[in-house]
Amino acid sequence: MSESRGQNRRQFLQWLAAAAVAPPLFAQLPAPAKRLSLELPPLPYAYDALEPYIDAETMRLHHDKHHAAYIAGLSQALEQFPRLAEHSLEELLSSLGKVPEPVRKAVQNHGGGHYNHSLFWQCLAPKPPVAPEGALARAIARDFGSFESFKEAFTKQAMGVFGSGWTWLVVESGKLKIENTANQDTPLAAGKRPLFGLDLWEHAYYLRYQWRRAEYVAAFWHVVNWPFIATRYQQLVRGR
Ligand code: MN
Repeated sequence: MSESRGQNRRQFLQWLAAAAVAPPLFAQLPAPAKRLSLELPPLPYAYDALEPYIDAETMRLHHDKHHAAYIAGLSQALEQFPRLAEHSLEELLSSLGKVPEPVRKAVQNHGGGHYNHSLFWQCLAPKPPVAPEGALARAIARDFGSFESFKEAFTKQAMGVFGSGWTWLVVESGKLKIENTANQDTPLAAGKRPLFGLDLWEHAYYLRYQWRRAEYVAAFWHVVNWPFIATRYQQLVRGR
């Protein structure tokens, strides 16, 4: 028993030494398209821009404190393996199995938090059109029957998140699907491309809505940035 543990430890130390010299990660991938950013992206609107649906105080704490904390956690993890930062967050989260084990969970949690929130801010907007147009509108009608049935299905899924997590509209094999992830897990980890997500952690709504999650989800539909999401859809299906 102790011999085998000693051997495991030796192997781990050898692996660690090798990793420190030249991390073997992503060796098989092409040159990274874009380095990940450890900067907090500014909100694309004022803190109070989404009132009365999402209140200014929630936006301020959610962006300045919660999102910033995920970035700090990710930065700390990457200090041990700086070469990981040469890859985009999408690459890391799509290939978590290739991230070194000592920081894999931190990349999953904090990197996922950074990715999810960066996307979330962009998917919200003050006074957006009430429904998408163009190719995304047609895909929603194709895969859910109608925009109204899509909203119903998404709301039902969002109400079913137990604990902290997200509800997503994703593209998988050319089809639109709704799915939940726990914690800060991203659909990327399962090979799916997220179009938009709704944050269902209590920090996203508790100040204004307390336990009334259904009211938060209903309010969300008033601030969905459909033009941004429709453009993102076209980029994803073209295989950007
Ligand atoms: Mn959040």
